Amino acid sequence: ALSVAHLAKAFGNVPAVEDVSLTVSPGETVALLGPSGCGKSTVLRCVAGLERPDAGQVCIGERDVTALPPEARHVGLVFQDYALFPHLSVLGNVAYGPRIRGARRAEAERRAREALALVGLEALAGRRTTELSGGQAQRVALARAVATGSPLLLLDEPLSNLDEQLRARLRSDLRDLFARLQAGVLLVTHDQREALAVASRVAVMRAGRLVQVGAAREVFARPATAWVAAFLGHAN
Ligand code: ATP
Ligand code: MG
Repeated sequence: ALSVAHLAKAFGNVPAVEDVSLTVSPGETVALLGPSGCGKSTVLRCVAGLERPDAGQVCIGERDVTALPPEARHVGLVFQDYALFPHLSVLGNVAYGPRIRGARRAEAERRAREALALVGLEALAGRRTTELSGGQAQRVALARAVATGSPLLLLDEPLSNLDEQLRARLRSDLRDLFARLQAGVLLVTHDQREALAVASRVAVMRAGRLVQVGAAREVFARPATAWVAAFLGHAN
């Protein structure tokens, strides 16, 4: 679904991402872990086309999309600030993706209701998004990404605004959901339980570079360096 090769991005003279190479197979969920400021969001933003890399290549499916604008990349996104359209209802927000890809209104709304049901928000379809709690807005953003039907989902802390109870419920829901969608998922999270529950592989990032990539259980059981061990152990 995704192949990133030798990605690099600096802001001024601050290198945010240095020589990151990573693949996500169709149907696979890869968790991107690392401390605050290590470059996780920058990787996702480069993949989404929201940031132009200084070097490297991004391929989605068989297509080299490195030079393409975000709207030509067909990815489903949930970002930390999950901006929803304030002038549209919850249903309108979730149906937006299918609509701009040419689905008829009834079909777009059917898919939107299905996606809302997956995140437990079908009852709020008619609400204005300005009347949602932070956690509800985040789940709407997740439904919106899912409803696009994109073969690649980029999720940046999709559960960060939720309380522990809801996170715990959504953790297992997400795994089932991703398995059903057969989409490739690149998931940024600071929650190690989420990574273990949802991802088959994890990639650990430190100061702009990947320091270990492997099967989730393997990485947690056998950290490659003392730093990875300390980082993974810390939040457990
Ligand atoms: P967090 O876990 O806190 O979200 P992150 O791993 O997502 O962190 P990034 O947002 O990718 O980190 O930032 C990586 C580095 O790049 C940081 O040093 C950050 O300050 C810097 N950076 C990110 N975006 C910009 C920007 N638009 N302009 C300048 N510097 C930036
Ligand atoms: Mg970030």
